[in-house]
Amino acid sequence: MYRMDNCTCYTTQSQYDDFPGSYTDYHTCDNCNKKLELKNKIKKEELKSHLEYINSIETLNFVPIKNALTKYRNTTSISNSDKWIVNNLRSRTYTVLQVHKKNNRWICSKERLDEIDFKVFR
Ligand SMILES: [Zn+2]
Repeated sequence: MYRMDNCTCYTTQSQYDDFPGSYTDYHTCDNCNKKLELKNKIKKEELKSHLEYINSIETLNFVPIKNALTKYRNTTSISNSDKWIVNNLRSRTYTVLQVHKKNNRWICSKERLDEIDFKVFR
């Protein structure tokens, strides 16, 4: 575990009640908690401003959702199934992509897809 100078994180060993052996409990110190909180806050703000930027892009063309799937895979190196990713892209998280069904095909905004950074959502 990486430790900062002012880190007082510690672990304790406890015995199982019902069978032999012990397990480790991790206790995160205030300094590490604060650091983590700040990190999460920065990440949230980054996502917010990215969404604002994507929302400001005008959609002129729509492309098959398969294009979004390909970009998602290439930028996130996620190994979930195609179906899982497409469902995810259709969720509220990606409203900015304007995913919808037309003539029985799922499509999304080309201009917004070009600019979106899927890494920011992770
Ligand atoms: Zn710590």
